[in-house]
Amino acid sequence: MAAMTHMAVGLAAKRIAPKTPVILLILAAYVIDMIWGVFYYFGIESMADGTTTNPWSHGLFMSLVWSALVGGIVFWVSHKNRRAGWIAGLLVFSHWVIDFISHPMLFAFLNDTGLSLLFDGSPTVGLGLWRTELGMNIGEYGMLVAGVIIYALTLWKIRREKKAVELENRRE
Ligand SMILES: [Zn+2]
Repeated sequence: MAAMTHMAVGLAAKRIAPKTPVILLILAAYVIDMIWGVFYYFGIESMADGTTTNPWSHGLFMSLVWSALVGGIVFWVSHKNRRAGWIAGLLVFSHWVIDFISHPMLFAFLNDTGLSLLFDGSPTVGLGLWRTELGMNIGEYGMLVAGVIIYALTLWKIRREKKAVELENRRE
């Protein structure tokens, strides 16, 4: 649920996956929220009670399952590119890590108890950085700025390398 922080992770991932369109990297970081959207639509999960446990989309166990599933699909679609599969899986799982740091997000959700480890009724965890407005702003904007900077530096590096190759070709 940490709105912009997941985008920051997607932007920064360009550094380790320079050939992948950044929109795919960002989408991967939001897969868990998209799954939540589907469950919400079908009435399986909600936040009506002011909690955000949502074990089927955001629980630790199911997050590992979704990450492995997406990683496996990308591995298969990319003609068994192990690295692509791992990056996709880790990006999906980064959602849980960020949410673990941010929840319980008491500033936004009054009854937030954190993320489920397994399913309904299982213990919940979270470091609760978004407990205060200040923590939330530092987390959201600080991470977004860091992500944009890493992304910009990566684009700059890619351009510089391209130019070097062009120069090299011209010399031959
Ligand atoms: Zn989320």
